[in-house]
Amino acid sequence: MYCKKCGSKAIIKITSANLTLCSSHFTEWLEGRVERTIRDYGMIRGGERVAVAVSGGKDSTTLLHVLAKLSGKMGFEVVGINIDLGIDRGTKYSSLSTEFAVKNFEKLGVEYKVVSLKEKHGFTIDEAKVKIKRPVCSTCGLVKRYVLEEAAQELGADVLATGHNLNDMAVFVLSGYHSGDLSNLARLRAVSPAENGYIRKIKPLFLVSEKETTTYALINGIPFIMDSCPNNPRVGGPTSDKLRRIIENAEDEIPGFMLRLVENFETKIRPFFEDLPKFNLGKCKICGRPTNSDREICSFCAVKIKMTGGESQIVKGN
Ligand code: SF4
Ligand code: ZN
Ligand code: ZN
Repeated sequence: MYCKKCGSKAIIKITSANLTLCSSHFTEWLEGRVERTIRDYGMIRGGERVAVAVSGGKDSTTLLHVLAKLSGKMGFEVVGINIDLGIDRGTKYSSLSTEFAVKNFEKLGVEYKVVSLKEKHGFTIDEAKVKIKRPVCSTCGLVKRYVLEEAAQELGADVLATGHNLNDMAVFVLSGYHSGDLSNLARLRAVSPAENGYIRKIKPLFLVSEKETTTYALINGIPFIMDSCPNNPRVGGPTSDKLRRIIENAEDEIPGFMLRLVENFETKIRPFFEDLPKFNLGKCKICGRPTNSDREICSFCAVKIKMTGGESQIVKGN
């Protein structure tokens, strides 16, 4: 297998483009794809401060490095955020993730903030897993969304970038069709505009596959955590993991399947959801952040009350 650009030994085949590339041309290709995605979808404007959510895994560390590289050329600034979620269960998962995130922030010399969930809000995900009667990943997801938004605003960021890749997006699209959950599909966007007190959120890797982000990290010597979260339901897991395997098999059978599924959803199908009635958002009476208008307090504050035992402590903790 030879590089189609220079004829030297190829290290990867980009199935969606039927392109084989060597390591330096692949690096150039991936950075070019992210740059085009940012421009085509109007993700970042010149002079903006972009907060990158870095878990320490391959996707978010690749995103951090690519955005840091593009920042000079495209005229924006990069800052990093990592959340120490307090997931251990005998694996030290969270402390290792934070270690890898910090290693990357310091390697690139970017300003960063590590938020300890325990120190900032008084509980860990391990503790929530025991006390909150809902799947731990659902609690963790809402906690991460809240804390990232909060940290990005504290850092004075204009935009929050996350490392969701093409495989993740293909799973979200297919799960939405499969469950018929239109509100979930309507919220699935490469760019969520700043509205209702939320900052703009972007997914610059949404057209880059997991194989491509992993290859980029490996060939560019980017340190990342290889272990999975001990709560990761992947092995023999629920429906979305089976959908992930189905999508990855479809990609083998029909090269470019994921890219077409996701790109067509974003550009041709999702615009129809713009006509759906929008949620009316109110203000959480504890933290003042947006919440569904039929609830007085937001889901995060509801979790925090259960975990720390009362509203007075929440107000003090903030
Ligand atoms: Fe959180 Fe679940 Fe992801 Fe672990 S696998 S980091 S608990 S969402
Ligand atoms: Zn080459
Ligand atoms: Zn709240």
